[in-house]
Amino acid sequence: MARYTGPVCKLCRREGQKLYLKGERCYGPKCAFERKEYAPGQHGQGRRRKRSEYGTQLREKQKIRRIYGVLETQFRNTYDKANSMPGITGENLLGLLERRLDNVVYRIGFAPSLRAARQLVRHRHFTVNGQVVDIPSFIVDPGDLVKVKEASKRLPVIHDSLRRVKEGKLAPYLELDKAKLEGKLSDLPNRADIPVDVNEQAVVELYSK
Ligand code: SF4
Repeated sequence: MARYTGPVCKLCRREGQKLYLKGERCYGPKCAFERKEYAPGQHGQGRRRKRSEYGTQLREKQKIRRIYGVLETQFRNTYDKANSMPGITGENLLGLLERRLDNVVYRIGFAPSLRAARQLVRHRHFTVNGQVVDIPSFIVDPGDLVKVKEASKRLPVIHDSLRRVKEGKLAPYLELDKAKLEGKLSDLPNRADIPVDVNEQAVVELYSK
C-alpha cells in the first residue's frame, strides 16, 4: 500500500504542532520543530493568514491522519466505521485509530516510533493471540495478546525501545510484560486517556458537510 515517505518533520511544521513522529528525537533538542517553528517552504516564515472554518477542519483532519500515518481512503473508511458505531463519532474514530496494531505496538513500547512499529509488523515480528499478523491496520480488541514472535525476541530495536519505557507511563488501556515481551489492550481507549492533542470533532464537522 502507498504511504508517505517524505521528511516527517516537515509535517509537524506544516501543522504548527509537534506530532511526535520520530521517536526519541522528538523529545530532544534535535527536534526540527523546536528549531524552526514555522511552516516549510519559501513562504513558511510569512504572515499566517487567518484560516476559514473549512481550512481549520481540514488541517485537523490532516493532523490526525499524519499522527496515525493513515492515507486518505483508509482514514475515510475508518471514519465511516466510527460513524456507524454507537457513541460519539469523533471519539470512536480516535479509538479505532488507537487500536490499530501498529499503534498498539508503538504505544506499548516495542518500537521507538509509529513508523518503526509499522515496519516491524509488516516484517511479521508480532503475533496476536498466537497468530502472526502482518497487517498494520489490524484492529486489536480488548484482551487480545500482542506478543513478539519467538524468533524475533532478540531484535535489538525492540529491546532498545523497551528500555525507554518508564514504569507506570503506559496509557491506562494498555498492559506490558517486559520480561515476556508481550502486552495487551486491557480496555477500550477512553478519549481522555489517548495522548493526542487534536480536535476530532472538527473531522466530524468536515465530513458532515
Ligand atoms: Fe516532529 Fe518529532 Fe520531527 Fe520534532 S523531531 S519535528 S516532533 S517528527
